[in-house]
Amino acid sequence: QDQAVVPSQMPIRVDGQYFDGLRHARAVKRALKRAIAKDDVSVFFQPIVDAHTQKIVGAEALARIYDEKLGYIAPSEFIPLAEKTGSITELGMQVFRKVCAFMSEPRIRMLQLDWVNINLSPIQCMNPHLAEDFISIQQKYQVPAHKLHLEITEESIINLNTLQNQIARMREAGFSFVLDDYGSGYSNLMMVRQIPFINIKLDMGFVRAHFSQPNTLLPDTIRAFLELGFSITAEGVESEAMALALDRMDTTYLQGFHYARPMPMEDFYQYMRSHAGQETREEVPDCDLA
Ligand code: C2E
Ligand code: MG
Ligand code: MG
Ligand code: MG
Repeated sequence: QDQAVVPSQMPIRVDGQYFDGLRHARAVKRALKRAIAKDDVSVFFQPIVDAHTQKIVGAEALARIYDEKLGYIAPSEFIPLAEKTGSITELGMQVFRKVCAFMSEPRIRMLQLDWVNINLSPIQCMNPHLAEDFISIQQKYQVPAHKLHLEITEESIINLNTLQNQIARMREAGFSFVLDDYGSGYSNLMMVRQIPFINIKLDMGFVRAHFSQPNTLLPDTIRAFLELGFSITAEGVESEAMALALDRMDTTYLQGFHYARPMPMEDFYQYMRSHAGQETREEVPDCDLA
C-alpha cells in the first residue's frame, strides 16, 4: 500500500548513507507530517514565458518539502501520499496562502508578473469549502484574483457536479482556470469545454513525442485550441530548438528547464529582478480585487 511513495526498492544513497525503499518511504511520510503541522511546506516558482517575446509573464507554484537528511523532496513522492491520507487539503491551503502572501509583498507587486499558477489535486476539488477558503485568503492578502490561476487536471473534471459549483464561485470572484497535463490521459475536447478554462497546458510527454517523431498531431491540437479561444502553454521546454518550433506552431507560452528550473521564492524574486526587460516598474496600487 506504500507503493505510491516507494519509487523502487533499490537502496537510495542520501548524504553517504543508504536507505532502503521502506525507510525512505517512512522518512518521506514523517517529513510530510512535520511540514504540514509546522506550516513548513515550501513553495518553488518556475517562470512561464511568452513564446513570442520571450518575456516572463507568469510562474507556476510547485510544492516542495525540505528534510534535513533528504533535502528537498519532490512532489511525486509526497503528493500521492498526501492525497491518500487526506492532508492534501491542508497542504494545498498552505501553498495557496504562501503564494498569496508572496504576491502581496510590495517588492513582488512591483515585478511585471501577470499571474501565478497553482496546482489543485482532484481531492482538493472535492472539498465543498474550497472556494470559500480560497476567496477568504485571497481577500485577506488583497491579491487581485485575476493574478491567481488554478491548474486542474482532467481527473478533477470527472467529479463534475461538486466541482462546477466551486468553480462557478471562484470564477465569479475573478480566479482563472487552467487545464493541466493535456495529452497525458484520455484528453478529449468535449470535456475541456465543460469548464471555463482560459489556458491549456500541454503535457511534457505529449510535447516531447512530437520532437522524437514529428507528425501533425501537436500542431493540429494547438490550432484547434487556439480556434476555440484558449491560450496554450507547452511544458517541458528544454532547448532553444523546441522553443523556436513551438513558437512557430503558435504556442502562446513556454515553460521548462530551457528558461529556468523551479526555484525557491527568494531566488525567483532575484531572478525576476536580474532578468533583462524584467526590471521593477513604478508601483501601481493593485486595489481592484477582481
Ligand atoms: P505539473 O503541475 O505538471 O508541474 C510541472 C512539472 O514539470 C514540475 O515538476 C516541474 O518541475 C517539471 N518541469 C518543468 N519544466 C521541465 C522541463 O523542462 N523538464 C523536466 N524534466 N521537467 C520539467 P514537480 O515540481 O516535480 O511537480 C510534479 C507534479 O506534482 C506537478 O506536475 C503537479 O501535478 C504536482 N504538484 C506540485 N506542486 C503541487 C501542489 O502544490 N499541489 C498539488 N495538488 N500538486 C502539486
Ligand atoms: Mg501544473
Ligand atoms: Mg503539468
Ligand atoms: Mg505534469
